[in-house]
Amino acid sequence: MIETPKPVRTRIAPSPTGEPHIGNMYVALLNWALARQTGGQFLVRIEDTDRTRFVDGAERMFLDALAWLGLDHDEGPDVGGPVGPYRQSERLAIYEGEVARLLSTGHAYRCFCTAERLAEVRKQRQKAGGETGYDRLCRGLAPEDVQKKLAAGEKATVRLAVPLEGETRFEDGVRGPITVRNETIDDQVLLKSDGYPTYHLASVVDDHAMRITHVVRAEEWIISTPKHILLYGALGWNPPQFFHLPLIRNPDRSKLSKRKNPTNVLWYREQGYLAEAVTNFLGMLGHSMPDGREVFSRDEFLAQFSLARVGTTGPVFDMEKFEWLNGEWIRRLPLEKVAARLKAEGFVPKAMLEKFAGPGAPGFLAIVRLMQERLKKLSEFADATAFFAERLPYDPAELVPAKKDKPTRTPAETLSALERLRSALAAAPASAAGEADGPAWEAKALEELVRVLAEELGWKPADLFMSLRVAVTCRKVSTPLFETMEILGREESLVRLDEAIENFGALRLNNEVTE
Ligand code: GLU
Repeated sequence: MIETPKPVRTRIAPSPTGEPHIGNMYVALLNWALARQTGGQFLVRIEDTDRTRFVDGAERMFLDALAWLGLDHDEGPDVGGPVGPYRQSERLAIYEGEVARLLSTGHAYRCFCTAERLAEVRKQRQKAGGETGYDRLCRGLAPEDVQKKLAAGEKATVRLAVPLEGETRFEDGVRGPITVRNETIDDQVLLKSDGYPTYHLASVVDDHAMRITHVVRAEEWIISTPKHILLYGALGWNPPQFFHLPLIRNPDRSKLSKRKNPTNVLWYREQGYLAEAVTNFLGMLGHSMPDGREVFSRDEFLAQFSLARVGTTGPVFDMEKFEWLNGEWIRRLPLEKVAARLKAEGFVPKAMLEKFAGPGAPGFLAIVRLMQERLKKLSEFADATAFFAERLPYDPAELVPAKKDKPTRTPAETLSALERLRSALAAAPASAAGEADGPAWEAKALEELVRVLAEELGWKPADLFMSLRVAVTCRKVSTPLFETMEILGREESLVRLDEAIENFGALRLNNEVTE
């Protein structure tokens, strides 16, 4: 195992080509943890040298996602730092300087081959069953010929002159020693004809210039690392330590893709996942806590994290587990925090805010308390609590209690039960002040009252609860009935019962006429 000197400098180097990928956040979390654990620095570097894939706004989204997850960075395009600029498109002169050095030392050469020729070479080599890389035609060009072509304005790229013999070795912190025969390594393009560096050149130059000590990145880059090692050698630099993390997989073990799972981390935010749950979930992927714990905070993760416990098998992205974890976190947070998040992240409909969440209105917290146990995602809140703020349409036939959709009472019995409920509840006072005869308008007393009535009517309490639930919440499934009625208040609950009786009576009349 590679020793980790302290403090380390790590980086996340996103290409701004689209939405911030959850896999990238996983890599960011591990880089962040390594830097924070050792008192080092965590950098953000924007790798925007592929102008054809550049997406405006992608950098902002990436930084937003990092900030949302609390993965704070010490240096980056937004906060600056001593080794900037932190966008590769602003560092072109630096790459040019290093390319000139590589050309003068013979570690690189200019290539004038056209795209058509390269495609043809690839095809021919493929047919012959050999390597599909470049055939190194321009590597043999005499310096005068190069000058002539340049003078004639021919477009050129710059390629790495990979040694034709020997092998390249490096130690991967996750996979151990890796050795590659140089003859299998392509003469990689370093500088494109548009003057932009390729990823390989820019990444090596910047990791060196930015004094990155640990390159922790996704496994898909492991195949490029021998080229990078050769480049470090050619430039006379010591390479950093490399750690290649296994790729996150779909349950069928294919590479995590948005066709099978949402991969935009901001999608999870819109769906009402908590940042705590996202970092917890990512921290669980491919890394196990020493005591096997599954629910842990970012700080707990930080205290325990070790690159030595990152495995080599691709962790499976288990959406069900993710949802479960989110529910766990919704319950873990203090009530006030859940309420504040719901509001801040826009999960509370306007009607609810107006009615229950105004200054001095304690109702909102009480509603959140009822929901906290039940939510898996914050986005479920609005729908599950919509009936608090407004009366929702429902089929009056649902007032008749039913088991597995078979009515357990007749409509006539139901109507008279609703009427009895109405008058019994109307006798209950609005507050717990105890000035009136009936029980106070609070959950326990209300339940007691309804239970007593059920007995008098010869109804099962569950049946009477069902009719009352539909009348008051307009839904067959709701938050706990009596707590809900307590929050709705006496007046509103009674109005809803009145409406139920009225609608139900009309329905019965209609039925009787048509029967
Ligand atoms: N720009 C590369 C990416 O998008 C960075 C790879 C690396 O970390 O070296 O993943």
